Amino acid sequence: MSRLDSLWARTAPPGPDSAPLDGDTETETVIVGAGFTGLSAALRLAERGVSCCVLEANEIGFGGSGRNVGLVNAGLWLPPDRIEAALGREKGERLVSALSEAPGQVFSLIDRHGIDCEATRTGTIHAAHSPAGQRELEERHAAWSELGAPVELLDRDEAASAIGTRAFHGGLLDRRAGTINPLGYARGLAHAAARAEGRNAGARIFAGTPVSGVSPSGTGWVVETPRGRVRADKVLLATNAYGGGLGADAVYTPIHYFQVASRPLGEAGAEIMPERQGVWDTAPVMTSVRRDRVGRLILGSMGRLAGRLSQRWADRAARRLFPALGKLEWECAWHGRIALTSDHLPRLLTPAPGLWAVMGYNGRGIGPGTVLGRWLADAALGGEPPPVPVHENGPDRLRPVRAAAFETAFRAWLTVKSI
Ligand SMILES: Cc1cc2nc3c(=O)[nH]c(=O)nc-3n(C[C@H](O)[C@H](O)[C@H](O)COP(=O)(O)OP(=O)(O)OC[C@H]3O[C@@H](n4cnc5c(N)ncnc54)[C@H](O)[C@@H]3O)c2cc1C
Repeated sequence: MSRLDSLWARTAPPGPDSAPLDGDTETETVIVGAGFTGLSAALRLAERGVSCCVLEANEIGFGGSGRNVGLVNAGLWLPPDRIEAALGREKGERLVSALSEAPGQVFSLIDRHGIDCEATRTGTIHAAHSPAGQRELEERHAAWSELGAPVELLDRDEAASAIGTRAFHGGLLDRRAGTINPLGYARGLAHAAARAEGRNAGARIFAGTPVSGVSPSGTGWVVETPRGRVRADKVLLATNAYGGGLGADAVYTPIHYFQVASRPLGEAGAEIMPERQGVWDTAPVMTSVRRDRVGRLILGSMGRLAGRLSQRWADRAARRLFPALGKLEWECAWHGRIALTSDHLPRLLTPAPGLWAVMGYNGRGIGPGTVLGRWLADAALGGEPPPVPVHENGPDRLRPVRAAAFETAFRAWLTVKSI
């Protein structure tokens, strides 16, 4: 079992007990993967009185859920008009409307279950890295405004005072959004799912339990793990970019994103994001900027962590954005995998009756994972499936080539930006 190392792993409160599965067992639904998707599904099933087991290869939140930036954004990476254009009016509207409310759903779960995860609800800012970036934000602003969303276009001065740097040409402030310690949220969902009351009294969560196979058996399924089998009526795969060997990987190309966190800035950081809005920019190789509860500065960009190169990039990015801070000391650095799909939309997989999966969040999975996990649980109980494209293709032989090409491009960019 691999351990998670990220700033969030050092600072989030512990999750519930989740010893590995030892021996055979039965349940109505098995969920593979303990991230936002799997845990949100487990919570929903437990609340509906359905018995379920969550099987996690490593530890709760080991995947993207314990490594991300923590920006709880509305919608998907694609703007709402492009989602509707891709899915058609009816499906598009349903998805956009559900994901527009996703931050509200995340924050209401945080409130309802008393989850300690550094939640801020002052919005997030998509910052323009160039005049063209600001034009893109104007279009996003128009599309969201048409739907009545509380978004505000910021000019250069307004962005400068909200972010604490004049490096950006403007921004789009989304008041629905906010920030969290993502691992704290994942662990809190796990606590909530485990202690849900009802007919079957809470989900059973087994960490350190990699699933090596899922096969049909009678009218249900048998799930294989190293020290026990689980018989179940239904199986939900919630492995996103961390799925290995269960047949769902063809949905996405894995790409990486790394982050570095400084020591707490103290008074020197008072003017940097004074309202704690998390920020990401419009550059093709994006940069993210946020602070945590104790005032660390957290910077991130695309690609794997690359030792001293990543640190040089961070030194330079901090100097460019916040020159008054001087040289910063970096306390922690980590990276994680993102599941990129060809059209930036998530995918539903239903390869056989009773076997379901949803994944491919393109780096926007806190709200979507929470909403679609819950939706998948309802679909497994006979409800409408989430209105995302269904994956029907077989293995994707070009996947490793595409992943390597992305990583090479990100490394080249990092090298240029570190000089
Ligand atoms: C660095 C980074 C930054 C990001 N920033 C943001 C952000 O700011 N905002 C946002 O909304 N989204 C962000 N994302 C995306 C978001 O983190 C993910 O979309 C989300 O965490 C996916 O959740 P999940 O539950 O579907 O999958 P994951 O959290 O990846 O969980 C999948 C789990 O499945 C387990 N697993 C895999 N295979 C098996 C197996 N065979 N048996 C048992 N268990 C298995 C893994 O160990 C893992 O724990 C970011 C992602 C990364 C990597």
